[in-house]
This record gives sequence, C-alpha cells and structure tokens, in this order.
Amino acid sequence: MRYYSLSRQSDVVDFRAATVAGQAPDGGLYFPETIPQFPAGFVEQLPRLEAAEVAFTVLQPYVGSTIPEAELQRICAETVSFPFPVVQVTERINALELFHGPTLAFKDVGARFMSRCLGYFSRHETRPVTVLVATSGDTGGAVASGFLGVPGVEVVILYPSGRVSPVQEQQLTALGQNIKALEVSGNFDDCQRLVKQAFRDAELMARLRLTSANSINVARWLPQQVYYCYGVAQTLASTGQPPVVAVPSGNFGNLCAGLLANVSGLPVAHFIAACNANAAVPAYLASGQYAAQPAVPTLSNAMDVGDPSNFGRILELFRHEHPVIRELLTGYSVSDTETSATIRRVHTQTGYLLDPHGAVAFFALEDYLRQHPETTGLFLETAHPVKFPAAVEPATGQPVPVPTELQELMQRPKRNMLLEPEYEALRAYLLTTA
Ligand SMILES: *Cc1c(COP(=O)(O)O)cnc(C)c1O
Repeated sequence: MRYYSLSRQSDVVDFRAATVAGQAPDGGLYFPETIPQFPAGFVEQLPRLEAAEVAFTVLQPYVGSTIPEAELQRICAETVSFPFPVVQVTERINALELFHGPTLAFKDVGARFMSRCLGYFSRHETRPVTVLVATSGDTGGAVASGFLGVPGVEVVILYPSGRVSPVQEQQLTALGQNIKALEVSGNFDDCQRLVKQAFRDAELMARLRLTSANSINVARWLPQQVYYCYGVAQTLASTGQPPVVAVPSGNFGNLCAGLLANVSGLPVAHFIAACNANAAVPAYLASGQYAAQPAVPTLSNAMDVGDPSNFGRILELFRHEHPVIRELLTGYSVSDTETSATIRRVHTQTGYLLDPHGAVAFFALEDYLRQHPETTGLFLETAHPVKFPAAVEPATGQPVPVPTELQELMQRPKRNMLLEPEYEALRAYLLTTA
C-alpha cells in the first residue's frame, strides 16, 4: 500500500515512511491510494474470529511488506489484548465499550499499534527517539502507556495545569521509567504551540531525534477499524440486521475509521457523527458548506475541536460528494444540558453509567432511532466514566467507583515538572535529555 498527501505536494510513500513522518512534508494528511476490500466470507466469519485475527486481516493490506507477517501478528495481538464488550443498554441500543484498555479510553488501540510499529521501525537505531506530545487529557495517557518501557524511546508529555482530571493526571505522571510529564502553567493551546515550535527548531531537531505521536498518524488512525468489525459483527449476530452506529467525535479519526471499514465491506445501516457544541461537521452535513469554528469548552472536553483534522479524510473517502456523505452520515450537536440530563436519565432508568462522550452519542442515537422505527443502534462508549467525574458525579449525585485496575495507579507518587508556557523553558529541558 502506498499513501499520498491530501495536499498533493509531497511524494507518495509506504506505510513505514507515513508512520515515521506522521504528517506529509507539505503539511497534508496521508491517505491510502486504494481502499482494500475485506476478503470474501470475512464478515460472516467475524463472530467466530479472535480480535487479533480480525486486526491482522484488516491491517495487513495497509502495512504491506514494511513489517514481516509474524511481527505484525504479534503487534496485532498486543494491540487488542483487552476485551471490547457489546453491552445492551435499552431494548434497541447497545454500547460498544472501548474503555477496557490500560488507560480506560479507546485511544489505547491506536496508540498501542503506533508505538509498536515505531518500535519495530527504529529497532536498529542507536540514538534514543524522543516522542514529544501535547495532550488535553486522553491522548497523553494512551501514548505514555503505549511506549512505557519500550527501549530506546523517551516520551515527553506536555499537559495544561489544572485542566485534566485526577485519573488522567495520574496516567501521565505516575508511570515513571521512560515517561516524563511537564505540567504547563497555561492551556492546551499553549502546550500545542510549544510542541509545534520544537518541531520547527532545526537546531534542536538536529541534536535530538524528535518524533510526534500525532493523532493524524496513519498508524493511529487505521487500527480503529478493528473494533467496528468486532462490534458490528456481535450486533448482527444478535439482532440479524446491521446497526446504526453513533460515534462521539472531536477530531473525527475514530468515525473516519468506521467509515473506512464500511467502504471495505462492513455492513452498517447508517452512521451518526455525534458532536457537542463544536459542530463544524454537523453544520457541513446539513448545508454542504464547511467552515472551521473556534473551539468552545464543554463537558465532553476530548471533543472540543473547532476544525477537525480528519474531516479531510472523510471528504476524500467519498470524493467530496456531499449527497453521498449525507446519505450515510447524519450529524448531531448535543448541548451540555442534554449531555448531563442523558447521563442522569440513563443511569436512573437502566443502571448504565455513561461518560459525557458516550452520553452525547447516546442522545443522538436515541433521537435518530425514534425517527427510524425499524432500526437498532450501537454507540461507541469511548471512555470510562471515572475519567470524567466532574461531569458524571453532579449528574448522578453519586461518586464513580474506581475500577480495581486503577486503584494501584492512584496510590503511586506523582512525578512531574512545572513548566512556564515559554518556548525557551521547553527547549532548555529537552536539551538536558539529549
Ligand atoms: C479523543 C476522544 C474522542 C474523540 O475522538 P476523535 O477520533 O478525535 O473524533 C471521543 N471521546 C473520548 C473519550 C476521547 O478521548
């Protein structure tokens, strides 16, 4: 498989080069030259296949010969080594729970696959690689956990002071080993600005082998197809019909992976782009006109994105044909009031505890199903509610129980360094690691 840049000013590259670079030199996102079709009989066999086998079948055409088969099999097995249960919430709605990985959010799948691919590609390097990443919460934890203990890799994470939840902060600061956390006295935009500046600093880049764990990396994007296969197959087996799939969306990598799986042959009745107040894509779906918007803060803060980077991939997948996209995808913008009310109501009526991102998807899905009486729905529950207690606890009036896997981590000492939001401070710190 070869990948071209959506800005079309860079060379076509293989999976290895696309993964190592993250972004094309012209600033565009990499996109596969062809969309592979799943092998004949794959969908019918899905309910009986192991997750690792599903992952290998889906991902092998994208990786091609850049990773030997046995190695890719091992990487796939490690990527999906935790369960992806489908849980019935109401008569017509199931949850696909994606929070049973090490950092309790779906980003573990992409981060685990990417970290292992990068580890394989740099196995002969003698100088350590420094992975530099800015996070608003979930990305940093998933990347840290993905690279924890990987030889030859140092991870430096920048996070905004006071803006991540206690669980998220422990996941960034209490791992130790090769993971370093910098608490920036500023907001997420400051963190991102500092990281971008480091990548533009030619002298620093020459002294350190800096790489990014950017969410647009193909090695983070493509493996997300795997749990759609798994979840859709399980609902098909129990209901006999393809589900309507609702995806809580921010940067739209996750939804775009689901659409990709659908184009490759996975049967889905319809997709829902479930957004909070950040509604650039729902507005496009309604009008055919796209306009980036300034990001606004919400309860589902991992989706506070005003100009989603992966939207360009969705357009490309459907050759920019708005009527085709609209036929398959409906957008919703759900307010914080509706999100809280949904968490409270679903908890009271069913006992199921939603996180704010899953609640956005649940609300949208319920509305869509009301208008389409013959259908059943599946929504992606992208994070464990314990990661967002400030949104969940006021809605239910109860504390969220801490899962046993997390209790040990919560006890560990927090190790971080405070950083002023000044580039010189980051630069000086990075040079001490060289
Ligand atoms: C990152 C994140 C999202 C948004 O996913 P995208 O692929 O950026 O659309 C949704 N929910 C949670 C919990 C997240 O961490």
